[in-house]
Amino acid sequence: MTQDCIFCRIAAGDIPARKVYEDDAIVAFHDLEPQAPVHVLIIPRRHLSTLLEASADDAKLLGALQFRAIEIARELGLESSGFRLVTNCLAGAGQSVFHIHLHLLGGRKFSWPPG
Ligand code: 5GP
Ligand code: ZN
Repeated sequence: MTQDCIFCRIAAGDIPARKVYEDDAIVAFHDLEPQAPVHVLIIPRRHLSTLLEASADDAKLLGALQFRAIEIARELGLESSGFRLVTNCLAGAGQSVFHIHLHLLGGRKFSWPPG
């Protein structure tokens, strides 16, 4: 737990969030400023600042985050319409919270390439 990290504090329950899932390793909750009708963030409890901090030992955790996002997409009714999974890595790619997270976005049409 990193005290000054907002997502560590959400994972610990110190800051409220609309959680949709949690287990020993993963927490998922609705984004505060949703960019789509469904916008859920899936995070590991363990603090990793960016994807670049992940090592080979974290491969299972990264896979578990993605699998959990897919399960939540199903639960939230995105199975037919589809969804987008995004991780921004570093500020240049749009990362603003430095605790890794997957964005699960759905419920509207998405364009490509992303902005
Ligand atoms: P990033 O910009 O790092 O890819 O994504 C960070 C996301 O976290 C943003 O979509 C932002 O709206 C969301 N966010 C930032 N602070 C909070 C918070 O305190 N609670 C929740 N639920 N979401 C947050
Ligand atoms: Zn953190």
